[in-house]
Amino acid sequence: MARFLFLFLFGMMAAMAAGRRAPAPRPVSDEGRHSSLVAWGRRHGLQPAPSRRAGELQLTNAALQVTLKADSRALVFDGVEHRLAFPVRRGSDGLEISARDVQATLDPLVNPPRRPASRPVNVVAINAGHGGKDPGNTEGRRQEKQYTLLLAGQVRRNLERAGLRVVLTRAADTFVSLDDRPAMAARASADLFVSLHFNAFDGPGSRDVAGAETYCLTPAGASSTNDSGNHRGGWLPANRFDRDNILLAHLVQRAILGGTDLNDRGVRRARFKELTLLSMPGILVEGGYMTHPQDAASIYSPKGRAALARAISDGILDYKRLVERRE
Ligand SMILES: [Zn+2]
Repeated sequence: MARFLFLFLFGMMAAMAAGRRAPAPRPVSDEGRHSSLVAWGRRHGLQPAPSRRAGELQLTNAALQVTLKADSRALVFDGVEHRLAFPVRRGSDGLEISARDVQATLDPLVNPPRRPASRPVNVVAINAGHGGKDPGNTEGRRQEKQYTLLLAGQVRRNLERAGLRVVLTRAADTFVSLDDRPAMAARASADLFVSLHFNAFDGPGSRDVAGAETYCLTPAGASSTNDSGNHRGGWLPANRFDRDNILLAHLVQRAILGGTDLNDRGVRRARFKELTLLSMPGILVEGGYMTHPQDAASIYSPKGRAALARAISDGILDYKRLVERRE
């Protein structure tokens, strides 16, 4: 009996000790210190320009315009919308931005990463979303998987013509799991992963929801674009490509806006499984809404897809040129 009591007490003490060692999880927020946006701009050769709107700051030079707003997560960088992880706030020194957003978004865009000369971008994995038993979004007899496959083929031809090697994670109407797709890219030693999808929205006001979105992995400790306020996501191995991811997403979204009639729904952050498993930089493109009449007409037409494929390829080639620069 004494032995049982001992074991019971020992168990209780062990449980209490364990309880002390493992405090209840608390939200991780590495928002970091906020710092002056005007000072950040000046460090990168950008000057504050007079703005017509209250609470708005524009930083410009001959080549670039950056716009931010007080109490807002909206950023327009070189004509492309981005969403910051934390709102810009008003400080004693004008508008201030979180250290996390400087590190994850502003700095890599204004001072892009560079690859060593020995590691150029040679191989691109193109992932046609869905396939086989997984049709993706379905509108009448139209299935997302058909159009992502057609688009992937065109992007492949464009990139091959530009001298790159392209690996398709599927080349036919076959089912490939979300885990296998990044694994295939890794086995092919792909330098980039570009996933192709088309969107759908059936809620109220769906006829107004249209345009292109380009996603990259949410940085550690920041919230995803569609999940404001949840900063609990921890560091994932694929977060080591954060600087490349945001640059690639930005350049592809910019090329889409320049080369198609699609609206700008912005560069976004998400922890999509395909992106969390990558062992190379990567993005996920949603090339328009199958639920919107104008987007749908473009998605279903060879001409519309050719323009989108051209823009996506151009964005990838812009990224290649930029990260391989030698100056
Ligand atoms: Zn999809």
